[in-house]
Amino acid sequence: MTRNRRQPWATTPLIESPHLSKLAGCRILLKLDNLQPSGSFKSRGIGNYLLRRIQESEALGQHPHFYASSGGNAGIACVVAAQSLGYNASVVVPTTTSPALVARLHAEGVTKIIQHGQSVMDADKYLKAVVLPADPNGVYVPPFDHQDVWDGNATVMQEIAVQMEGEKPDAVVCSVGGGGLMNGVVQELDKLGWSDDVSVVAMETDGADSLNRSLLANEIITLPKITSQARSLGVATVSKKTFEYAQRPQVVSAVFSDGDAARGCLILARHERLMVELTAGVAIVLCEDRMLEKVLGRKLSADATVVLLVCGGNDISVEMLMKWQELYGAC
Ligand SMILES: *Cc1c(COP(=O)(O)O)cnc(C)c1O
Repeated sequence: MTRNRRQPWATTPLIESPHLSKLAGCRILLKLDNLQPSGSFKSRGIGNYLLRRIQESEALGQHPHFYASSGGNAGIACVVAAQSLGYNASVVVPTTTSPALVARLHAEGVTKIIQHGQSVMDADKYLKAVVLPADPNGVYVPPFDHQDVWDGNATVMQEIAVQMEGEKPDAVVCSVGGGGLMNGVVQELDKLGWSDDVSVVAMETDGADSLNRSLLANEIITLPKITSQARSLGVATVSKKTFEYAQRPQVVSAVFSDGDAARGCLILARHERLMVELTAGVAIVLCEDRMLEKVLGRKLSADATVVLLVCGGNDISVEMLMKWQELYGAC
């Protein structure tokens, strides 16, 4: 992995998985964004957002203090990126936030952790209404719904194109929370002129399936409640752009259970020695039972290539894997 001083994300490896390829019956490549400095692809989008704001404020002689509301990866990415660029960041988290996450944010050098409300939505409202107005240098950091975030996330697809030496993959599989990652991927496929030929599979877990339900309803809906354990997918409403992109025939939406996602995490741990969170594990189930072909609605030849975005590896522990091993058993 390489990293520029003024770029708070890394170029991550793209590796072929022999085990998953055998399972799926085609070439499976893993894009290892769990190896980003913050442990998730959010280093890209949020890192780019911070870079843009820093460039603007340097021109005005200002020194911003960044604020994110988050129950996880967005907060970590904001703090890690700000620190690496020499700026301060604070995070508003719900009171339900785990001590492990609070400790992690401290370890990464967070300036202040403010605990407020029952959900990330409550924390976000408090940040906007109370915290930001009190800091003249305060700059809000959105987790997914901003063009600068999409531009940063698009670098993952740029890298894949370079790493595949111009060869087009048949499909790219990405997880969808609010849709910032998918927007970046589709935007870059358009730029490459590849969007007619490369399918995008938008993965969600049951209970965090805001895109899938919006597609069924034919309008953007808001989930009344998030019931999935895949926390980074727990966004009640997807971005407008994501809903638009998902109308394309090349973009398909798929939903699997938390149990399926946990099985995916166990497979990656066992066969690739990688610890990833449920959000990333859910993509792995597509390699079983010819599920890729079922989801894409077409046959894949043995030399077809599918890229799975391994989006993050923070919300995972040995204990969680051991518990899932008991619950979801042998694989
Ligand atoms: C944030 C996040 C997602 C969802 O990304 P969106 O841009 O909100 O769709 C998926 N996986 C991981 C690991 C994340 O941190």
